Amino acid sequence: MSDPKGFLKYPRQTPPYRPVEERVFDFQDVIHSEVFTQEQTREQATRCMGCGVPFCHNGCPLGNLIPDFNEAVYHEDWGLAYQLLAKTNNFPEFTGRICPAPCEHACVLGINQDPVAIEHVEQAIIETAFARGLVQPRPPVHRSGKKVAVIGSGPAGLAAADELNRKGHTVTVYEKDRYPGGLLRYGIPDFKLEKWIVERRIRLLEAEGIVFQCGVEIGLDLTTDELLRHNDVVLLCIGAARPRALNIPGHELPGVHYAMDYLTQNNRRVTGESFAEPDILAAGKHVVVIGGGDTGSDCVGTANRQGALSVAQLQYRPRPADERSDYDPWPLMPMTLTTSSSHEEGCARAWEVQTKSFVSAPDGRVKGLVVADLIWEKDSTTGRYVFREKPGSEREIPCDLALIAIGYRGVAPGAIWEQLDLLPDERGLIPGEDYRTAHPRVFVAGDARRGQSLVVWAIAEGREAAAVMEEQMKVKM
Ligand SMILES: Cc1cc2nc3c(=O)[nH]c(=O)nc-3n(C[C@H](O)[C@H](O)[C@H](O)COP(=O)(O)OP(=O)(O)OC[C@H]3O[C@@H](n4cnc5c(N)ncnc54)[C@H](O)[C@@H]3O)c2cc1C
Repeated sequence: MSDPKGFLKYPRQTPPYRPVEERVFDFQDVIHSEVFTQEQTREQATRCMGCGVPFCHNGCPLGNLIPDFNEAVYHEDWGLAYQLLAKTNNFPEFTGRICPAPCEHACVLGINQDPVAIEHVEQAIIETAFARGLVQPRPPVHRSGKKVAVIGSGPAGLAAADELNRKGHTVTVYEKDRYPGGLLRYGIPDFKLEKWIVERRIRLLEAEGIVFQCGVEIGLDLTTDELLRHNDVVLLCIGAARPRALNIPGHELPGVHYAMDYLTQNNRRVTGESFAEPDILAAGKHVVVIGGGDTGSDCVGTANRQGALSVAQLQYRPRPADERSDYDPWPLMPMTLTTSSSHEEGCARAWEVQTKSFVSAPDGRVKGLVVADLIWEKDSTTGRYVFREKPGSEREIPCDLALIAIGYRGVAPGAIWEQLDLLPDERGLIPGEDYRTAHPRVFVAGDARRGQSLVVWAIAEGREAAAVMEEQMKVKM
């Protein structure tokens, strides 16, 4: 273990956020990582108690070897730290920046102190490894002769492609968008994840032999039959970004948009990619984000950077508690209130609010949103919480741009379903127990299988699916 008294000597510290008044004028990373020294990072790694039973392993879907890499950082052995991290995590440069860090919520120190800053240490290890030239393309020495097609280039597809390529299989990733990365590129804003970081990893994967065919929609531009004819196995990592609709009167008015359309367009704009759709911009507008999750929070940050007059975020559920309760004790992920960097930049957050109808201006565009407060109470017969409208609370709030971020309904419809004769489950996802679909040579992983989730889960799913596919190729083919 590192210094056994490290956690008594050093308080938790992480790199500072750039001042709000600076960062809201650009789309660069909100965190000033470069001002944090390696010595400071070492102190943070030293806080790790090297627990006999490291709950953090279990908290992390990838099972990252956290106490081990913390110890290597304590000894300033960055090479070893990188090797340990890369054993379980294909892309620490993504998770080290945007993971909600379930590992930290499971850290034993977190029972009565601030947990170890695991996410930051992870980012420092991978960036040090890149800076020292330790992350080099390592193409496989032998090719197996087996061919794999991965459909979708989000973190699940990339992780699976990486794993299978390392085993020597010839991997082609098909992506319908212009560039690879999935939601890493087109969903998550640059202020959380700058796109050169995605690009850097794609270049590495290409140098290791993975072929990316972008602008190819499987099902449309190429049938799954064609793919199966030319490949031994096929993996579906097509995400689950079909938005949930808000079917209230006026939802079709100009100025009412799905959050993902808004975020995708802005990500294209920031990287200078052209797009055909009319601009969706928040500048000079009263913006209302409907939905309290991460997608909504990303809309808040984007709208403020675009120069919105005001930004409100509405949520129909009650405000989460500040502290853990009996329902989410340590080491579970807490269901407590999260305040993102975007919220800190300016946002009126409201809970227990029902959206009733959009109101149009004389020019036909949206100009307002009728809302009402809700009262949540326990139903005495079912024991479930139900809501009712608070009498007299109905009112109109200004709204020139509404961004709907109320969740997802599973995998988008497309020809793939029909061509592979697949049926969605009750959540609109592709059933895939043990990552196998109903088709014997087709597998599924990532959000398409588990529903909208996290990058860390997508990587874990990609890795596990790759192991199952590898087994099948060894045994049956
Ligand atoms: C706005 C937003 C913010 C988020 N922020 C975070 C965060 O901060 N931290 C975090 O951990 N998670 C975050 N997530 C969740 C995370 O991005 C996803 O869980 C993760 O990207 C899922 O990975 P995936 O590979 O399964 O799917 P995706 O990333 O959705 O990739 C699927 C890919 O498949 C492609 N595709 C689909 N159909 C076809 C086809 N027929 N042919 C070819 N290609 C196809 C799509 O174009 C896409 O590129 C966020 C999600 C959203 C929407």
